[in-house]
Amino acid sequence: MWRYFLPTRVFSGSGVLKENAGLLRETGTKAFIVTGRNSARISGALDDLYEILKVIEIPHFLFDEVEENPSFDNVEAGKRALLESECDFVIAIGGGSPLDAAKAMAVLAKNPELSCKELYGGSNLMALPVIAVPTTSGTGSEVTPYSILTDSNGIKKGFGMPSIFPVLALLDPVYTLSMPWSITLATALDALSHSLEGEIVNSAQNPLVKMLSKSATEIIARTLPLVREKQDDLILRERLQYSSMIAGMVIAHTGTTAVHAAGYPLSSFKGVKHGMANAMIIPSVFERIALSSPDTVLNAIKPFDNLEELRKFLDRFDIWRDKLDISDDEVLEWSTQSERAAHNKKTPGVFDRDFYINLYRELRGN
Ligand code: NAP
Ligand code: ZN
Repeated sequence: MWRYFLPTRVFSGSGVLKENAGLLRETGTKAFIVTGRNSARISGALDDLYEILKVIEIPHFLFDEVEENPSFDNVEAGKRALLESECDFVIAIGGGSPLDAAKAMAVLAKNPELSCKELYGGSNLMALPVIAVPTTSGTGSEVTPYSILTDSNGIKKGFGMPSIFPVLALLDPVYTLSMPWSITLATALDALSHSLEGEIVNSAQNPLVKMLSKSATEIIARTLPLVREKQDDLILRERLQYSSMIAGMVIAHTGTTAVHAAGYPLSSFKGVKHGMANAMIIPSVFERIALSSPDTVLNAIKPFDNLEELRKFLDRFDIWRDKLDISDDEVLEWSTQSERAAHNKKTPGVFDRDFYINLYRELRGN
């Protein structure tokens, strides 16, 4: 027996925003637009949205202050602006950071008595409707019920609830053309991580999820080296955007594994991009899983024939070029945190403190 749930309406293709202006009007009467500092503008998405909102006569308020790995404070500031603006729906443009921050703001605006830390209680709270317009091809946040925020101690924490599935995902590959190679790479590796991790968790239980993860892994493995050579190729960009979205559909069902848990401190405390952090960790986690479940790993990583092939693929992008500056205290503290992460429960194999100590030591080169 298996089940699958995804309430997000997905529209994809060049010009998708303009073509579907009517859907924006159906969603609400005043739009709260959430973006990072630059990407919504340089991608062209914000100008397109302004043009459409003018035509359909929907007033709007812009909150363009979302930072990378958005903090509780950042989201609380957005919540205040959202409440003051009296908007009744949210349009998020950007990578995972603005999309996730917007989801949290949408819940807090509907439950103004709550603060960010109370979003982690496990209940499904009501939220304002969120429309997601991704400008990176990585997180799949446009089709997931998750929001990953950073608390006041710098710890990244995800919460999930069905109400924060975006009601609408509008995917225009044109908005991803402005990504420089470093962001294209990091975000595509995040998507690869989602499809590989999701396949491990799913372990062929759900045929629909399996089909999505297999397809995402294959497309990314084939497309990423080509995009490096032809970064302005819209067809290749569209393939990455599609694979990232279907990898999002995978983790919407499976969640993520020890790879994500172990990567969070690298982003919070060392500024490593989320997808790069995952990619650095994938081989070690998968080698550990293979000790107890070798066939599950071989099946999960196809089209890579074995873990050595996967490692070689990642190495082509120089992801381990720089050793990280991680202190002994950080190794111990992060290992304690990672060992406690709920992600370990769904990762086959033993992920104890010693595993994480060795992992973080490897990343710093000893
Ligand atoms: P991001 O943090 O949203 O953005 C990274 C950088 O890319 C920012 O400087 C951003 O600029 C820039 N950028 C975005 N789109 C661009 C474009 N088209 N052209 C040029 N620059 C662009 O990156 P992300 O990897 O997409 O998101 C990472 C976050 O998502 C992490 O917090 C991660 O934990 C979370 N995540 C969420 C889920 C989920 O299911 N919700 C899953 C995985 C990861 P601006 O600052 O100007 O926007
Ligand atoms: Zn991720």
